[in-house]
Amino acid sequence: MPKEIVLTIKSKYFNKFKSGYPLLFKEAIVNLNDLKEEGTLLMLIDEQKRFIGKGYYGKQNKGYGWILTRKEHEEIDYEFFERKIKEAIRHRKSFFADSETNAFRILNGEGDGVGGFTVDYFDGYLLLNWYSEGIYQFKNLIVELFQNLVDYKGIYEKKRFDLKGQYIDDDDFLTGERAQFPIIVKENGVHFAVYLNDGAMVGVFLDQRNVRKSIRDYHADGKTVLNTFSYTGAFSVFAALGGAAKTTSVDLANRSFNKTVEQFSLNGVDYEAHDIRVMDVFNYFNYAVRNNLKFGMVILDPPSFARSKKHRFSVAKDYKDLIKEAISITEDNGLIIASTNFAGIDMKKFKSFVDKAFSEMGGKYKIIEEHSLPNDFKTIKEFPEGDYLKVLFISKIKG
Ligand code: SAH
Repeated sequence: MPKEIVLTIKSKYFNKFKSGYPLLFKEAIVNLNDLKEEGTLLMLIDEQKRFIGKGYYGKQNKGYGWILTRKEHEEIDYEFFERKIKEAIRHRKSFFADSETNAFRILNGEGDGVGGFTVDYFDGYLLLNWYSEGIYQFKNLIVELFQNLVDYKGIYEKKRFDLKGQYIDDDDFLTGERAQFPIIVKENGVHFAVYLNDGAMVGVFLDQRNVRKSIRDYHADGKTVLNTFSYTGAFSVFAALGGAAKTTSVDLANRSFNKTVEQFSLNGVDYEAHDIRVMDVFNYFNYAVRNNLKFGMVILDPPSFARSKKHRFSVAKDYKDLIKEAISITEDNGLIIASTNFAGIDMKKFKSFVDKAFSEMGGKYKIIEEHSLPNDFKTIKEFPEGDYLKVLFISKIKG
């Protein structure tokens, strides 16, 4: 185990941390200069020497580390990690037993009691995502525990922390059997091609599983569907399988064309019966308006921040306008599916964008379905930022 130091927390934050907030931040720390090596274990006390908890130092965005326990007698050792990982696996029991789905999250950082890393399962292959150099110091122990506790074929990793400019394009493979890519996984009976050795994005975002299922099972039948920021076309595939009359997938990235063809083909859908456009979504909206195109369903799932040649987009500033664009090309009684994974706004704020967009367009709407993270993306109420996904199914009412 890495060495331990005492970290003093300003007393005004005592209650915040004591009542469960897990992420350490700069303003709360008195002896910041004592933080030297990431991965150092921390014994946290306040200025009056009251015990707060134990954790580790690791820089992750604006965070300085995570609190792991508030019990004075609990040690952060091998057994500690073993307990947390066992508990996490137990929480996903129904996923391990599901014959229709074999891609899911096994451990979701602070939601499972250990902030700083996540573990995903892709038909027997594990993907460990490390979000700081601090948690990376515990890598050997964590990998060993997963080897012991999960029936796996192979283990891959992604270092998602800043390697100080020295990007090492190393092999993401860690141990076990090397996979033949793509790994073909299943989600509610639908196939996806997954690549664990090809950059940060692996081909599918597991957190949208329930949204995809709902689109297929309840909403797509007979509709023309526009899927914006479509990436590998996961929403389009589910819509097509749910009986959509036609889907149009729009994404700026060149890779998206082949990846979308691949996902359609894996599921026996003729991709030539669908439209796949490699272009800027904002240009597509202009094109659709000029040509009087209307859709029965418009899906919006932009990145939190995006920049293309002509456009700059941020969820906080521009989502309302994005919804307005969608309203103008959605049929009466059609559906707009608005999604964001931006942690900087909550559901209430997100709904206010919808409300403003409709009132500025002079239209009526009804929210008929809401989604947040699925069960395998476990969250804790003390850390609402971790509950980042917000999805609204908005019915555009003729009025
Ligand atoms: N909806 C997808 C995930 C979207 S990821 C899914 O369910 O799998 C975000 C995508 O937005 C990326 O593929 C990126 O290439 C694309 N993107 C970013 N800015 C864009 C723009 N201005 N126009 C079109 N696509 C854009």
